[in-house]
Amino acid sequence: MTETLAAIVWTLGLVAWFVIRLPHQRRARRIGIAATQRTLTDRLALAASGIGLAVIPAFYLATGIPAFADYTFQPWLGWCGLVVQVLFLALFYASHRQLGRNWSVTLEIRNDHRLVTDGLYRYVRHPMYSSFWLWAIAQALLLPNWVAGLSGLVGVAILFLARVGAEEAMMEKHFGEEYRSYAARTGRVIPRVF
Ligand code: SAH
Repeated sequence: MTETLAAIVWTLGLVAWFVIRLPHQRRARRIGIAATQRTLTDRLALAASGIGLAVIPAFYLATGIPAFADYTFQPWLGWCGLVVQVLFLALFYASHRQLGRNWSVTLEIRNDHRLVTDGLYRYVRHPMYSSFWLWAIAQALLLPNWVAGLSGLVGVAILFLARVGAEEAMMEKHFGEEYRSYAARTGRVIPRVF
């Protein structure tokens, strides 16, 4: 693995993210919303994750800034980054498919919202957010720059802290005991298999 190849792998990850999400974003526009919690906090957290996962690393790859934070590229780290990137995309794709029409970019309950408890969701409540953590880890492994490499982890941490508690409270409010017992038998971001 070379530094250039690692940069290409990172860029392809961003393109794949866009392609996987697009049909879900389109369909979501046609499905009515029963309740929304699109708060300012959630919008800012979403923006922070976009800045950390896309804007800062893309700017770094285009300009080399901030060069003071560069370190020597290690091929083995790049290979690990490729593996984590593939896992991210597989999990990102599968979680969108399985959540189907219940998906939203923010905190929303759709008309006829169904609590998904099968597939990945049988073991973990937030597989899409697990995939975001993998994305940020892949970025750290692929880009040999302390700022552009680690900005994804900061962005995902902000989104995660701002979002997960509010999302679980919203789901519990809407689904009541069904969600409480579902939450009791699943992991938050790490699958509970046993
Ligand atoms: N946190 C989940 C979903 C992210 S999309 C994950 O990481 O996979 C965010 C939307 O998904 C929320 O607005 C919520 O309405 C919906 N959602 C979250 N968990 C769900 C579930 N188990 N079943 C159905 N919808 C869910």
